Amino acid sequence: MKFGTKVIHAGLGPDPQTGAVMTPIYQTSTYAQESPGKHKGYEYARTQNPTRSALEKNLAALENGTHAICYSSGLSAMDAVMRLLEPGDEILSTNDLYGGSYRQMVRVHQVYGLKPRFIDMQKPEAVANAITDKTKMLWLETPTNPMLNILDIKAICDIAKEKNILVAVDNTFASPYLQTPLDLGAQIVVHSATKYLGGHSDVIHGAVITNQPELAEQLYFLQNAVGAVPGPQDCFLILRGIKTLHLRVERSCQNAASIADFLKNHPKVGKVYYPGFEEHPNHEVAKRQMRHFGGMVSFDLMKDEIDKAYTIMSNTHYFTLAESLGGVESLIGHPASMTHASIPREERLKTGLTDTLIRLSVGVEDQEDLIQDLDRALASV
Ligand SMILES: *Cc1c(COP(=O)(O)O)cnc(C)c1O
Repeated sequence: MKFGTKVIHAGLGPDPQTGAVMTPIYQTSTYAQESPGKHKGYEYARTQNPTRSALEKNLAALENGTHAICYSSGLSAMDAVMRLLEPGDEILSTNDLYGGSYRQMVRVHQVYGLKPRFIDMQKPEAVANAITDKTKMLWLETPTNPMLNILDIKAICDIAKEKNILVAVDNTFASPYLQTPLDLGAQIVVHSATKYLGGHSDVIHGAVITNQPELAEQLYFLQNAVGAVPGPQDCFLILRGIKTLHLRVERSCQNAASIADFLKNHPKVGKVYYPGFEEHPNHEVAKRQMRHFGGMVSFDLMKDEIDKAYTIMSNTHYFTLAESLGGVESLIGHPASMTHASIPREERLKTGLTDTLIRLSVGVEDQEDLIQDLDRALASV
């Protein structure tokens, strides 16, 4: 099955009871048992819910995994993966990852003995050099947020495989339409389904996908034991969003490519971060591991003036100033004070995340309108 067919059909089918073409929202907490322990596979909705099961089957197919497990948010999905590790284990991670992921590793799991370390992973050799005998997992995010660096998933997985280290990839920014890390050697994929998978900025949701049955078993145990499960209506909304994933992401990518070019040629714009540019340091890797270059573009102003950045962000009309990304509508954001405020300033600056950096999540509107909107906002400074 090709991707555009999978999003609509994989793991899904008419409801056997009623013929309902769309997966029903099973709004129930418990299920009738014929006699004690004799049931139709469903006992209690923290453990299993048919709407959630349908979504999990679909997500497993999209990422070419064997199992998917859904959570009430992207960060609770990540939390489950962190719990696969033990106190004293080291997790090596990219140094410009999502602020909330950084916060969880450092301020939650480190307290319980996990040892997170953050390094620049753009050169796979740097990863090889940083691994110690305590390293049990590599945590990748690519494209990275918000600098849009690209990590070579396959090269890093090859290094990890030799040393028996698990690789988890936060695939939120790319979505499975653009890249499938399990095919490149990773064992775990994590999503904030809040973003491209849901695609309409109306639900918080997360998922872990794996191709390792033993890991899936531990994750099912944790899902049930910890309990951060999504409600059935949220699962329904993600299922509905996924049906147009390929169309939305395709259009976002096209719009983002044009916007990146427009910004590159604008006299008031300084550096533009976009993996589709040939001069992007890992453009060749992006070309190899992604279908297109994604719907995210970041840029700096020519002069390091924070007031001007604020004026621009407050003067767009179609780009809404808001956190988050991956919805049909375009968003503009200020990572330093919004998504990445939880990362210390010195750490941020080391990765190029300046106080004037502006991040765009390009939606599926008409390109001309989006470019005109940015043009007008840039003219206001
Ligand atoms: C938003 C985001 C998360 C966190 O997901 P939530 O659904 O907000 O909990 C994790 N990783 C990345 C890359 C994100 O963009």
